[in-house]
Amino acid sequence: MQDAKIFDQALVRLDDAARHLELDADVLEKLKYPRETTKVRLMIRMDDGSRKSFMAWRCRYDDTRGPTKGGIRFHPEATVEEVETLAFWMTFKCAVMDLPYGGGKGAVRVDPRTLSKTELERLSRAYIQAFAKVIGPDRDIPAPDVYTNSMVMGWMADEYASIIGQPAPAVITGKPMALGGSLGREDATARGGYYLVRYLKERLGLPSRARVAVQGFGNAGQHIARLLAEDGHKIVAISDSRGAVYCSDGIDPGAAVRAKQGGSVTSLAGSAGVSGLSSDDLVAVECDLLVPAAMEDMIHEGNASQVKAGVVLELANGPLTPEADAILGRRGTVVLPDILANAGGVTVSYFEWVQNRQGYYWPVDDVHARLRTTMEREGDAIWRLAQERNLTLRSAAYVHALARLASAIEAHGTQQFFTS
Ligand code: NAD
Repeated sequence: MQDAKIFDQALVRLDDAARHLELDADVLEKLKYPRETTKVRLMIRMDDGSRKSFMAWRCRYDDTRGPTKGGIRFHPEATVEEVETLAFWMTFKCAVMDLPYGGGKGAVRVDPRTLSKTELERLSRAYIQAFAKVIGPDRDIPAPDVYTNSMVMGWMADEYASIIGQPAPAVITGKPMALGGSLGREDATARGGYYLVRYLKERLGLPSRARVAVQGFGNAGQHIARLLAEDGHKIVAISDSRGAVYCSDGIDPGAAVRAKQGGSVTSLAGSAGVSGLSSDDLVAVECDLLVPAAMEDMIHEGNASQVKAGVVLELANGPLTPEADAILGRRGTVVLPDILANAGGVTVSYFEWVQNRQGYYWPVDDVHARLRTTMEREGDAIWRLAQERNLTLRSAAYVHALARLASAIEAHGTQQFFTS
């Protein structure tokens, strides 16, 4: 996502949802703009003794429903517009799941692959030194995102603790287990999507042995392939950035994980009925369920009409452009939208924050059971809303979230209260 239009595109969702609700004007005035975006130039010492600087941001989009929550990404093309758009999405995602959070996001414009491990640690600590006053367990709670991981979160939590003079694990989620992370966080995003599909299976018209194509084979893609295969579904195609593989009899997700660890899933081509495809061909594969789990805008005007799947589970953030969304809508493809489908990650992050504050840690079965309850409760509500109002599931998810945000904003008093 590079250009300034992305924020305007996000606001189209807000305007769309607003048309389905009777809202006080205060609501849109509040949600149309980020509340606070802080920009800092981080300066770190490199291993060769030189100093180098990096642009960094933290956006707290809206905190009406609670402290802001959202990841920090390290990416060479990060922009302030992208950070604010992602923070807007987090505001809606947290409201969709009824988590007591607003939305936030952070980024550093850097290619972390060009840094040594010690430089990466210095940069992570510098981020917290710069934003220590912005974040906090009751104010703004970061998490991992693109090119940041649990070790980065561990350094950041440690730096925050040394600044405030005491451990505060609830300031950040996605931490390593040994530093207060939660069981079940590793596969939470995929597991949330899996619970949603399993719960809605009949309503979606999915067969008990569905053919599944998974685009992108990182954290989200690998876990969804494993969970669906364990449930009897057939993973017929998998892609990563180097290419794709297809097998009508099904690909063993364990073998695909090993191939990916060795470089790419494409090394499976040629073995036991598995053929190779280009990454772009994956969306056109004959299947019942397509799971985009790679990057933004992968399904677009140019390839949406090739999608054969009847159901799309958006584990990636923003994998469909608005044009692709419209094409799939016209063809009757059901899209389980990102702000619901991949919200398992932030939901288990919330569980981690709760456990840190309680100082009491839950068994993994409790984490799974609570995640499942949350996904089913919100999935059911959004499905019903879509049916009642004749909306797509994406529009229904935005309406559902906006109704919650509006109640919180209106609870502070509306124009009617102040003028009557
Ligand atoms: P990841 O970096 O672990 O994996 C990304 C995968 O996408 C890699 O396998 C990469 O090879 C593949 N990829 C890149 N370009 C591709 C292309 N052109 N075609 C096919 N594959 C390609 O990332 P992740 O954590 O699995 O996240 C994937 C998506 O899910 C992102 O959109 C992310 O924002 C979203 N998401 C992740 C989480 C989470 O908890 N991990 C939570 C919410 C949303």
